[in-house]
Amino acid sequence: MKALWLDGEPRLRDDVPPPLPAAGEALVKVRLAGVCATDMALMRGYHPLRGVLGHEFVGEITAAPDAPERVGERVVGEINIACGSCRECRAGRKQHCSQRQVAGIRERDGVFAEFVCLPLLNLHPVPNSVPDEAAVFCEPLAAALEVVQQVPVTPNQRALVVGAGRLGQLIARVLRLSGCELAVVARHAQQRALLETVGVRWIDEDAVTDAHADLVVEATGSPSGFALARRAVRPRGSIVLKSTYPGLLEADFSSLVVDEISLIGSRCGPFPAALRLLAQGLVEPTPLIDARFALADGLAALGRAAEPGVMKVLIDCRVST
Ligand SMILES: [Zn+2]
Ligand SMILES: [Zn+2]
Repeated sequence: MKALWLDGEPRLRDDVPPPLPAAGEALVKVRLAGVCATDMALMRGYHPLRGVLGHEFVGEITAAPDAPERVGERVVGEINIACGSCRECRAGRKQHCSQRQVAGIRERDGVFAEFVCLPLLNLHPVPNSVPDEAAVFCEPLAAALEVVQQVPVTPNQRALVVGAGRLGQLIARVLRLSGCELAVVARHAQQRALLETVGVRWIDEDAVTDAHADLVVEATGSPSGFALARRAVRPRGSIVLKSTYPGLLEADFSSLVVDEISLIGSRCGPFPAALRLLAQGLVEPTPLIDARFALADGLAALGRAAEPGVMKVLIDCRVST
């Protein structure tokens, strides 16, 4: 099968053997996949992956030896593959399984391919009312929802999102549902326009007030973004870190102690809730699509996604033969 293969550099291969479902797994024919910042980070060596890149997708189950009744289901998939028996798994924290594989990120082939195998338990059926173009946003939308799962936001609070890229836009669309006083630090004209279409206030970084926000979500993954988040949070407020950082981050930790700031790392989130928001039209992600490439042009898709300010780039993995 065709696949975008990472081994130091990404390259397009057409000789990757299609995966075979293990016990409890399904074979999924990938329909659409999305490129995200983590893919860019992996190409820069954030984590050594040798295999198929990609972890955001919508597809169709084409084989499931242990659940033949699910063949034909249109699905999205959680990307953490847990062992099920370690201490974290037994405590219900499968995302933190010490033996975990993560599709397209850690020791497991991803979704920029014609087919992918995932455990049946990871695969959630997509309601008919949600088109592929929206369903493909389920993984990052779930990650955005993880913010409010970790730090409940009330209507009388002030929230600030630093960064209006792919993930920042989704986080803003989730926070806006809480009724809180929300602003998003946005640099690019297109990012600002996209926020305006959903009635979210954007501000320039120079306009950020010191120590005013109850909750700041840092979605840039840059030291300057963290510094801005630190400056904006009020004493006893929370900073949710939503992006990984290249290298080590420098910060004045004494001031975090004195101001009693909560620093919260945040990763994957709840898929069923993300699917509900999409099905109810409470989050409409398709205006965030920048471009769509065929899998055969996957390298061009990665190049486009790496350009500054570019929103979601989709890869159509349905190869016509
Ligand atoms: Zn991602
Ligand atoms: Zn485990």
